[in-house]
Amino acid sequence: MTMRWEQLARRQPVVAKMLQSGLEKGRISHAYLFEGQRGTGKKAASLLLAKRLFCLSPIGVSPCLECRNCRRIDSGNHPDVRVISPDGGSIKKEQIEWLQQEFSKTAVESDKKMYIVEHADQMTISAANSLLKFLEEPRPGTIAVLLTEQYHRLLGTIVSRCQVLSFRPLPPAELARELVAEHVPPPLALLAAHLTNSFDEALALAQDRWFAEARTLVLQWYEMLGKPELQLLFFIHDRFFPHFPEKHQLDLGLDLLLYLYRDLLHIQAGQMDSVLYRDQLDRLQQWALACPQRRILAGMEAILQAKTRFHTTNMSTALLVEQLVLQLKR
Ligand SMILES: [Zn+2]
Repeated sequence: MTMRWEQLARRQPVVAKMLQSGLEKGRISHAYLFEGQRGTGKKAASLLLAKRLFCLSPIGVSPCLECRNCRRIDSGNHPDVRVISPDGGSIKKEQIEWLQQEFSKTAVESDKKMYIVEHADQMTISAANSLLKFLEEPRPGTIAVLLTEQYHRLLGTIVSRCQVLSFRPLPPAELARELVAEHVPPPLALLAAHLTNSFDEALALAQDRWFAEARTLVLQWYEMLGKPELQLLFFIHDRFFPHFPEKHQLDLGLDLLLYLYRDLLHIQAGQMDSVLYRDQLDRLQQWALACPQRRILAGMEAILQAKTRFHTTNMSTALLVEQLVLQLKR
C-alpha cells in the first residue's frame, strides 16, 4: 500500500515529524535505522522517503506519486533505489558486496542513490561488517535505510552510525480508526484491531469475507448454547467447524469468542465504551443480564484452556471444541 504523509503522521507522529523536518531543512541523514514491530509501517515510510527524494515534481515534502520515478519506486524498478532482503533466512555478504559495487558506479539517473535493507538484524556477521565499512565511508548522495524488528540484535557500531527512528505499535482504538478510514465497517475494524497490531494484517483480515462470517458464527455459537445439546452439537459440526478448517483459523475463532465473553463482562460493569461487538449491543445486553458473572468468568477460563490445549496436545480439534462447547453450556 502506498503511504502518504498524512497516514504516516497519524500512525507514527514522531517519525513523520523528524523526517519532514529533515526534508524541509535539507538535512537528510546518510543512514537511518527504522526500528519497530512488524506492521508498524517501516517499509512504507522508507519508500515514502525514497519517492520524495527521487520524485520529478514534488510538492513541498510530498512526492507526487504519479511521475515515472514515484511509480518505479513503488514497483521496485528504480535503478538508484535498491531494496535488500534476506535470501533464504539471512542477508549474505555477497548481497552487500553487490550493493557496494552497484553504488560505486555513478548514479544511473541522478546524483542520489538509496538502499533499503529489510530485516537488517538478519545480516550474517560478515555481511554486517561489510555494511559497516560502507556506512563508515558514506559517499555523497547515498542514503541508507535499515529496517529491523529486532534492534538489539544489530551491531552497536552499525546502530551508532544511523539516526534511529522508533516505530510504535498503534493502540487498537487508533488502528480501528485507520481501518475505518480504509472503508472497513466499524464492527469488523474494532475486532481486527484487537487481534493484531499490524495495520496490514488487520486490514487484510477485516477485508476478508471469511472474517465477517467467522464473527457471525461466533455470535451464533453463543446463541446456540441455550438450545438442546443435540442441536448445539449439530451446529458446531455442520456450520461452525467447516468454516475453521485450519488450526490458526480455529484459534482466531476462539479469540473472537473470548472477546464476546469479555464484552458481557464489560456490559455488566457498565463499560459500554469497551464493548467490541458494539453493533450487537441489544443482544449482548440481554445475554449479560441472563448470565451470572461467575459463569462468564468460568467460560473465559474454559476458552483459554482450550486455546492452550490446542497448542500443547495432539488432541483432535473436533474433540477439543466439542468438550469446550459442552463446558460452556453447563
Ligand atoms: Zn513523483
